[in-house]
Amino acid sequence: MDERLVMASSAREAAVLAAGGAGYLAGGTELMRLGAARHCRKMVSIRRIEGLGKVEERDGEVLIGAAVTFQEALQSQLVPAYLKEALSFMGSRTKRNMATVAGNVAAWRDDSYLAATMLAVAAEVELMNEAGATRRLSVAEWARTRPEHRLIGRVIVPAEPGWVSSKRYANTMESLSYLVVSLCLSQGEARAALCVKGVGAFVSPELSEALSRGAGEDELVELSYGLDEAIPTDMYGSERYKRYLAGVTLARMLEDAERDGAR
Ligand SMILES: Cc1cc2nc3c(=O)[nH]c(=O)nc-3n(C[C@H](O)[C@H](O)[C@H](O)COP(=O)(O)OP(=O)(O)OC[C@H]3O[C@@H](n4cnc5c(N)ncnc54)[C@H](O)[C@@H]3O)c2cc1C
Repeated sequence: MDERLVMASSAREAAVLAAGGAGYLAGGTELMRLGAARHCRKMVSIRRIEGLGKVEERDGEVLIGAAVTFQEALQSQLVPAYLKEALSFMGSRTKRNMATVAGNVAAWRDDSYLAATMLAVAAEVELMNEAGATRRLSVAEWARTRPEHRLIGRVIVPAEPGWVSSKRYANTMESLSYLVVSLCLSQGEARAALCVKGVGAFVSPELSEALSRGAGEDELVELSYGLDEAIPTDMYGSERYKRYLAGVTLARMLEDAERDGAR
């Protein structure tokens, strides 16, 4: 078997190897998972690249390097509480010690722990190409375009985006989630993001608009029933149940925000 692993010593070296066909290896909890969607014969580990193992705060933003694990992010005083709420959706400490935040964003699974929260707060990624050039992209744009071979050097989240809440629905802590709901409220404006198994993560403009003007539970449930996304009926529940759950969850979140004086 011709499988190879190279430990990159710089982000640029990693990007060059990826452009030549190698897959980035961070924590490996997705890439090396039995039944993973992607398998790479050549891999370039980005875990030992200097500078990518840090969390920094700059100009109201928190920058999370590509080698930072869930556990390190949870223990960092710089990582905002709203993101820690989503990071703690990964229940296994063993997995949290290996899996990286950037790897989770890169994988962008339809049951992602972080995607809904990242979309709700309009997070960004810093990408690097093989020439060493960096550019920033919203996570929404990253998810839409998935620029091939580009290294996510950092995941960038706002330190204080406003009031944020995220909730994950799964049969058990260790099971895959069928719905994650995240709401960000800032200066009267709401952004609601959902991550639905079988669909993926998306921002709902309809729900966001209704939440911005303080819509009640009935309207939010009705709007959830009308969402265009093809939400599946599966072993986790019916389509109608998941739509209802999304609407009710957002209504409860809005009540919590009101109780906290956030609107
Ligand atoms: C039992 C089990 C259950 C799981 N359940 C869930 C779940 O419910 N929700 C969920 O979201 N995940 C789940 N995962 C997957 C995984 O644990 C997480 O998504 C994790 O955050 C991935 O991070 P990693 O560092 O291990 O990534 P890796 O496995 O190293 O990489 C994941 C993918 O991202 C790419 N990549 C990694 N880092 C970068 C980077 N910096 N730039 C560009 N590309 C990069 C890799 O090439 C690969 O394609 C599960 C895994 C296991 C084993």
